[in-house]
Parts: sequence; structure tokens; C-alpha cells
Amino acid sequence: MKLSRSVVVILLIVSSIGSGCTTVKSVSFENYVDTTAKPIKLQAKKTFKLNNGDIYLSNAFNGARLNDVKQINDTLAEIYIQPENSPINNSPYYAFKAWSDLPTSFYLRFKYPKGYNHRYVPKLKINDKWKIADSTQLFTSKDAMTVKLSLTTEPILVSAQEIQSSVDVKNWYSALLKGKDFVHLNSYGTSVLGKNLPVLDIHKNGKDNKDLIILLTRQHPPEVTGYFAFQAFLETILKDSELSNTFLNTYRILAFPIMNPDGVDLGHWRHNANGVDLNRDWSRYNQPEIKQAVKYISKAIKKSKTRVILGLDFHSTWYDVFYTNESRAKTTMPQFIDNWFIALEHNIPDYTVNETSSDSDKPVSKGWFLYGHDAVGITYEIGDTTSKTEINRIGKVSATEMMKILLKK
Ligand SMILES: [Zn+2]
Repeated sequence: MKLSRSVVVILLIVSSIGSGCTTVKSVSFENYVDTTAKPIKLQAKKTFKLNNGDIYLSNAFNGARLNDVKQINDTLAEIYIQPENSPINNSPYYAFKAWSDLPTSFYLRFKYPKGYNHRYVPKLKINDKWKIADSTQLFTSKDAMTVKLSLTTEPILVSAQEIQSSVDVKNWYSALLKGKDFVHLNSYGTSVLGKNLPVLDIHKNGKDNKDLIILLTRQHPPEVTGYFAFQAFLETILKDSELSNTFLNTYRILAFPIMNPDGVDLGHWRHNANGVDLNRDWSRYNQPEIKQAVKYISKAIKKSKTRVILGLDFHSTWYDVFYTNESRAKTTMPQFIDNWFIALEHNIPDYTVNETSSDSDKPVSKGWFLYGHDAVGITYEIGDTTSKTEINRIGKVSATEMMKILLKK
């Protein structure tokens, strides 16, 4: 539902949350969402044996999701995929390995709890290369999807999206910041299960009075195509170019490459280890992942006497779309979105920006940037099946054009 601006009453409660010297303001939204901890169900990690032990399915790795397996006949099994808890969005994520003692064809039928439907076309990692399952391997009936696999002793990874575990993310940013002393790798805390929460704090020649740009991703674990755009975006900003150099002498970036490491490694559909959608917690910060991120940002603002001017939160959905706030006049950059989208269309051949605009009524980051900081907040969504080439193109150009526009400001 779209709400008129006058109906959305926003109150900033200046109450202090948590202890310590950094005051974090809670931000009120029109619709309250309960983000206190809820129980989750963990998967039993195991290798399932079929056909009396010559076919194997396994969820024994980070990012896996396979709750149960039932063999139907010699060539078919049903695989049961369940969410961490419910209610939850209809985005059934799955990931498992499959192999056999002898080369054979085998069919797997996806089964989800009532009310949830197949969303992700299977992606297969064979010999270290990812590819999307093609039409000769997929069979759709009215309520189920079946995938046909050619199994050998070499495991095939079958997954809703490419696996990018917390270790993969760490490997990526560790390589990225090598030789770049202006990228400061910090920890802003730990997750519910004690995993490190990393942030890349990026600035050249001091950080005082430099306007802040915040980049977020992986609040929702399976949204890996959005993470790929985050990678391309950040890699472009860190390139050894004159534009980048001038930009980082003028602005400071805080980039959060994995907001929900527990959810990512547990193979969650959407929530953190407390069973909560982190992108509904940007009001009272009940979850440690959000609370500590907000604290880090608030501290940066206070210590460097600065402000947030732009927040981009990278996600994935059915298609590419930018979710923007409708209210712009009060933000520090009222013209940014228009200028940015014009520049994207101008610089990406055959590309039309898909924008959906409304002020956030629920506690999502996009609304937090607007109501809490008078900043431009955008949910940067990439389609589930948008190709890597396309993602890289959009990620690169959007970073370049952002830098150009901000330097003209
Ligand atoms: Zn999302």
C-alpha cells in the first residue's frame, strides 16, 4: 500500500538505547514490527544415503539447506526444504551436494511446507564452475519442481543461489584491501552466534568532516546477486583512478559486506540466528547485528563531526529494481536520485532504470536513512537470475556515476 506523505508521521525518539558513551537514537516507523528473538529450528547436518548406499546427498557444509530426504523409487527422491522459522517470506532457499558411486541419472523433487512455492531456479556447481540448470534438467508440474542430475563420484553442488559463505566473503575483502592502506578493516561486533561482523572504513587523508556513504548487504542470506553488485560497486570505488582518488579524499565510505553471517552460514531463507528479519529492525535495534552497526555509524558521525548523506542497501528479488523514498526535498541531496538514474540510463546501453518509490512504513534501512538522517536511502535490488556480466555492468556504472555526481555537488 502506498501512503501519502502527510499520513506518515515520523517521530524521532531521542531515547538512548544500550549503555556506553555512544547514544543511538531509535527511529519510529508507522508500522511497528516485533523484532525480538524467536526460536529457530536447526537442520541436522548429515549425509543421506539412497538406493541402499550408492547415491548420496549432503548438507554438511556452511550455507547448506536440506532438511530431509525420502526415496520414492530407484530414480526419484523427494527433498524437504524448510525455513528456519515462520512466518517468513516465500523465498525457499536450498543448497546441498549430490554424488554417486557409479555414474547415474537421478531425479530430485523439491518439497516445501504448505504455503511456500519453488522460487529459485537451481544453480549447479560442477567442476568448480557454476551454471543455471537448463530446461532439459527441469520438470515442472503444478505444485512441484523436479531436477534431473547426472551423478558421478565428483559431488555436484545444487543451490538456490551461488554459495557465498562468511569465509568466502572474508576471502574476498581480504584480497581486495591488500596494498590499500586507506581501507581500514574493523570489527563492529559479533553476531548472535559469535561470528565477527566486519566493516570496511574507507577514507584518504583523514576522516574529519567528510560526509558518509553507507553500503550494506546480506541482511537476507540468499540474496547473493545483490552481494555481487555490492562487490562490483565497491571494487569500482577502490580502483586506482583519478576519480576514485578525488572521491575518497572528499568522502568516507562505511561498507558492511556481511550483515547476517549466522543466517548465511546456517543456510537461512531470510532471518538471523534469533529468527528475525534484520531488515525490519531499523527502529529499536533488538538484534545485535543491527544494534552494533548503528552504534558504529553513530560513533563515526559523532567522532568525525559529520553526517550520513547516502545509504545503499544491496538485496536480490525477482527482477532488478531500485526501491527509493518518495520524500526527497528534506534530504541533503534532493536531486541525487534523479541525476543518478539519468546517468545510469545514459551510460549503460539498452538499460532502463526500474524504480519503485514510496516512503518506508516498516523499519527497513531505506527508511532509517531518511527518517533518522535526512539522507537518501535506496534498496538496491538485483534480480535472482540477472547474469554476472549484467550485474558487473550495473555495479560499476552506478558506482562511477555516484562518484561523479557527488563530486559535482
Ligand atoms: Zn532482501
